[in-house]
Amino acid sequence: MDNARKHIIIVGGGTAGSVLAARLSEAHSFAVTLLEVGPDDDSYDNAILDPARAPEAWLGAPPVAMTPMTNGNGFIPMLQGRMLGGTSAVNGLATLRGLPEDYDGWEAAGLAGWGWADVVETFKAAEHDHDFSASHLHGNDGPLPVRRWRREEMGRAQTAFFDGMAEVGEKAVSDINDPSQLPGIGVFPVTIDQDGNRVTTSRAYLTPDVRARENLTIRTGAEVRRIHIDGQRATGVELADGEELTADDIVVTAGALWTPNLLMRSGIGPAGHLNEHGIHVHQDLPVGQTMSDHLGPGIRYQHEGPRGGTAGPAQSLYIGASDGTNVDYHLFPIAPPLTDGPTEFMMAVFLLRSSGMGAVKLGAQPQDGPVVTVPPLPEDGLARLRDGFRRLAAWEKSSAAAALGCKPAEPLDLTLADAPAIALERFTVSYGHMTSTCPMGSVLDANCRVLGLEGLRVADASAMPTIPSGNTYLGCVMIAERVARKMKDEVSGT
Ligand SMILES: Cc1cc2nc3c(=O)[nH]c(=O)nc-3n(C[C@H](O)[C@H](O)[C@H](O)COP(=O)(O)OP(=O)(O)OC[C@H]3O[C@@H](n4cnc5c(N)ncnc54)[C@H](O)[C@@H]3O)c2cc1C
Repeated sequence: MDNARKHIIIVGGGTAGSVLAARLSEAHSFAVTLLEVGPDDDSYDNAILDPARAPEAWLGAPPVAMTPMTNGNGFIPMLQGRMLGGTSAVNGLATLRGLPEDYDGWEAAGLAGWGWADVVETFKAAEHDHDFSASHLHGNDGPLPVRRWRREEMGRAQTAFFDGMAEVGEKAVSDINDPSQLPGIGVFPVTIDQDGNRVTTSRAYLTPDVRARENLTIRTGAEVRRIHIDGQRATGVELADGEELTADDIVVTAGALWTPNLLMRSGIGPAGHLNEHGIHVHQDLPVGQTMSDHLGPGIRYQHEGPRGGTAGPAQSLYIGASDGTNVDYHLFPIAPPLTDGPTEFMMAVFLLRSSGMGAVKLGAQPQDGPVVTVPPLPEDGLARLRDGFRRLAAWEKSSAAAALGCKPAEPLDLTLADAPAIALERFTVSYGHMTSTCPMGSVLDANCRVLGLEGLRVADASAMPTIPSGNTYLGCVMIAERVARKMKDEVSGT
């Protein structure tokens, strides 16, 4: 490494880490080392590239970290991609941003520069939208190719859901990333290339030209075990095989469960909890104490006809507003991750806000992964879910649902007041949107720097102060883009 350059280590080459590595290495004043525990993206097989096979990832076929989360009733398995591209390699490909008020709330909480007017520009700059030309909402020059699912790509359940919801009077929405069109029934935008293959952030950002930069080193199979802190400064990292690397700056992008785990193992976290584990406390901060996620009940349906009829990759989606105006839940059919068995699908109703009272703690042994408790529902959660249940009951009566010939696998009167509570008791699902375990505001400042320490930042889903009202992958891209910009501005003095 060139000593005149600032050496930056990025821990975790996932969704956010890949973006950061590409953007930071654009600056010649940086020498960037990206450390990823999993394999490179040239090892992706079809189960990752083919969106129709995404459910195989959820069974753990590609490399994933599976972390059980407790919710009081039992365990919800939670996976994260453990490879270059991270969870963008195994997620549902939905490319949503959340709502303007989410980000305006961040700014109102004192985080200057994170309001909608600022972040929408970053969302636009990250995408190349193939359906809409450049506008106040969309961009055509970014690395991420975005388009919406097409009708011919939908399985029977998806089509029946879209048509049935329109039939019972729900508004058809052409662009669900346009908040002014919501609530309504639409299809997910997705990040796929012209051949229909998944594009992970590593494939989009770490292109051959970027990888050829002499100031960028990408190391896969490199697990960071500890961050070294000297006084009030982070000075380097220790790998699982004992190798030590020094750095001027470290950015942790190991994901919402593993970033807090690494920080706590390194002495940054709640003092009482670290003391219980005999870990020297460098910085007493509420790491891992405010986890959010989108949760909801999954209701199983069986339908007539061939199983493959539900298995198209495309997703239709109803975005609902329980008070009629303010969007607060998603309702959509999901084909289950099964290769044989009954012809089933699941209707999931996900609440888009979270109590933020989930937790990530350390396991008993130093090599153990994080111990995760999902957030309980917000106080008004059941009341808000009822609106989704009422609309699902209306959809069941549509001619499109009748043509699908579907019936609930377990009888549940969706119009009953206690239906959401019963459904949650039977089967609670996570949307996989864990966030806010090292949030800006209480663990990080508005530049994503760990409070009270020099040379250490967090720039992934952990950093979100509150969970956005949408899927979270694009929010991680946005955070990484903005943190890279801030770091470049800092060295150039602008
Ligand atoms: C099943 C599922 C479906 C989802 N579907 C969608 C969707 O359709 N749309 C959407 O927007 N969001 C979706 N999400 C959520 C979204 O994908 C995540 O919020 C986002 O990708 C997280 O990005 P990240 O950068 O925070 O972490 P990740 O992408 O998980 O990256 C973390 C990286 O760090 C690496 N790492 C961890 N620990 C270490 C270590 N100690 N040393 C070195 N490397 C390490 C990991 O291997 C990984 O590559 C889904 C999530 C799940 C689980």
